[in-house]
Amino acid sequence: MELFQRDTGALSLVMKLGQLGASARTTSRNYSDFESGNIGRTVKVSSDTWTLQLRNDNDDALPLSWRQWFYFRLDDLPVNQKVTLTLSGLGMPGYFLPFYSLDNIDWIQFPKEAVTRPTASSLQIVSQFPSQKIWFARYVPYHYTRLTKYLSKLSGHPSVTLRDIGRSPGGLPIPVLTITDSASIAPKQRVILHARTHPGEVGGSYVIEGLVNYLLSDEALAKSLRQRLIFTIMPMVNVDGVVAGNNRTTPDGVNLEGKWISGRDLELDHQHVPSEILLLNRAFRALLATGVPVSMALNLHSSAGDPTDLVFAFPHFGPAERGYTAAESQLFEKQIKFISLLAEHYGTAMLASPPSDGGRAFVNKKLPESWWWRHFQDRVMALTLESTYGFAGSTGHWMKPRDLRRLGESLAVAISRYHETIVARSVTNGHKSMEIRR
Ligand SMILES: [Zn+2]
Repeated sequence: MELFQRDTGALSLVMKLGQLGASARTTSRNYSDFESGNIGRTVKVSSDTWTLQLRNDNDDALPLSWRQWFYFRLDDLPVNQKVTLTLSGLGMPGYFLPFYSLDNIDWIQFPKEAVTRPTASSLQIVSQFPSQKIWFARYVPYHYTRLTKYLSKLSGHPSVTLRDIGRSPGGLPIPVLTITDSASIAPKQRVILHARTHPGEVGGSYVIEGLVNYLLSDEALAKSLRQRLIFTIMPMVNVDGVVAGNNRTTPDGVNLEGKWISGRDLELDHQHVPSEILLLNRAFRALLATGVPVSMALNLHSSAGDPTDLVFAFPHFGPAERGYTAAESQLFEKQIKFISLLAEHYGTAMLASPPSDGGRAFVNKKLPESWWWRHFQDRVMALTLESTYGFAGSTGHWMKPRDLRRLGESLAVAISRYHETIVARSVTNGHKSMEIRR
């Protein structure tokens, strides 16, 4: 519980990381020297014109497409006069509307009229502001301190347990939140979720908040979910990357997503796996050892592609008639069922239709889903859900944090229906859902 009783340590980590990156920065002044901040070379061309270069994670020479996240502050803007900011070095060509803030707390999305993309890798903002000091970001920031503040508000709730799975290499506790009605004697299944493996994908944090807020609400369905299930949530896996303002990697330049390197054992290969993933794996194994069957494991990401991209979940394998084995086609069917339940509640126009065949490429990709499949086959429905920052489907507006929170709420409803139908059926059929395949 130490995490919630003292300074989160994020600030001292920012300073440490800032010192590490300072030599590589090309500006004498750092416009993003705060938690989750990130911008590269910044030039004030004239009193009303600025050019800003996106910075790579840790100043590494990573591919251009990895540059997505920016979050910086300008302190000497001319008040109530038109200014032009040109950001260059963007990794994805899709159009989007960034956000700005007068206080670094409340964020406003730029209107379409203020934002153009002069080239595939640049974005131009022409606008005026009521203050000299303005924060700018790719999307409404969700940093480590924000998470710990949110979690500390939940402490004391009778259905909530707050712990950490261990400390990151930067020394920060990686939080884990458990939600269940511990007084309920009903047989339970466990649902595991984790998010922010990719630190710049803030969307996952709003989805988690929506889910958690719903689960702790007085809704009859929320009460029933707490009685039937145990939700174990690791809301921010790459905490050091989040503090550093990275988009994809840790401060050591490691993309944690494809690092589930294992052989026949549930335990990962200590030699080749970064410590955040070793901690996550150790936490999963400890949860399995409690004997509560894990029915579902969701991995939350956010895709910054084309603005018209819908929220999507990519299923694995395909139907039996395409040559997939019984277990492979069963996993596919479960995933398709879950995606359709989610679409039913969130809105069918808000979720991309899954492909009729997801393929088997994920099996060898060292993803958490690959690990779950290798050891538990279709008994654990493991899936990545990608939220987006673009148009909110048929609603015709840009995806706001509230739209992402609503996705979290829909996730709770879909998880409930999935367990009422698919999981209940396999339990009735006598499946020992947690038998480990050796
Ligand atoms: Zn991702």
